[in-house]
Amino acid sequence: MSFHAKLLTVALCAGMVAGCKAKAGGSGAPSESPVAATPQQTGDEAPPAEKMGGFDGKRAFAHVAKQVGFGPRPSGSAAIGQLQEYIQAELTSYGCKVDTDSFTADTPAGRLPMKNIVAKIPGDKPGIIMLATHYDTKLLENFVGADDGGSSTGVMLELARLLCAKHGGYQVWITFFDGEEAVKEWSDTDSRYGSRQMAAKLAMSGDLPKIKAFLLADIVGTRTPHFKREADSTKWLTDLVWGVAKRLGYGNIFLDESMAVADDHDPFLKRNVPAVDVIDLQNYPGGDVYYWHTPEDTLDKVSAKSLAISGHVFLESIKQLQSR
Ligand SMILES: [Zn+2]
Repeated sequence: MSFHAKLLTVALCAGMVAGCKAKAGGSGAPSESPVAATPQQTGDEAPPAEKMGGFDGKRAFAHVAKQVGFGPRPSGSAAIGQLQEYIQAELTSYGCKVDTDSFTADTPAGRLPMKNIVAKIPGDKPGIIMLATHYDTKLLENFVGADDGGSSTGVMLELARLLCAKHGGYQVWITFFDGEEAVKEWSDTDSRYGSRQMAAKLAMSGDLPKIKAFLLADIVGTRTPHFKREADSTKWLTDLVWGVAKRLGYGNIFLDESMAVADDHDPFLKRNVPAVDVIDLQNYPGGDVYYWHTPEDTLDKVSAKSLAISGHVFLESIKQLQSR
């Protein structure tokens, strides 16, 4: 994704790797300094699943560790092929029905094979609730994307384990996009390959208008998470998710400030699908994700507790959407 907050653009871009894209709007002060992280590789700090609506942060963390173990996973790499097999095998083991869409994308590095993976949970009401993450990692040397790519993919796999066991209500589709990251520099044509492919495909098939809500997670694993309301996201859906978070006691994490971020929800927003992006992109020095798009985005940056918090909020938000 790319990030843009008018007031902070200069300071932020100065601290970032190439590709900062200022957009418009946004507000908010820099967050507090990150707390000293104690590296731990087990996810043991995850709250008990029964306190998190059944979401097991330890399992989500194990998925992140597995992904990091494959090494850098840019689109078209052998490592992302291993991850695709892992995602499909996990989903199948939970009893999910899995659809895949293999396609090729013309990128600044040439034509690359890509694959979207969707777990489809049947429903008896007309309509689809769509959850999504990207699972590719940015093409950078020694970049394993534990938080950027890994964290939200771990959350979605754990959500699939819980949700594929339940049928009824609206259909729930859990989507794993390839090609979110820019191959060279973020632009409308070099980024979001998977989500653009899927939105276009669903528009053609006639399924797009059936999507009641599109909920995206990206970069949700940091030890000091703060989610600002993504400025372009659909207001009622953002209100719903942030309202759930507040009721669950996460009002200090889901903040009422806003910030505009370009991400995989955009191709759906553009086609009038209600969409929300839950992302922590405080990527400046001293921010929550100071390690964004650097080789420092490693497993020790990811907290099983943070994964469980976003998982809990997604689970309860789906319950709310199912009752509408
Ligand atoms: Zn990224």
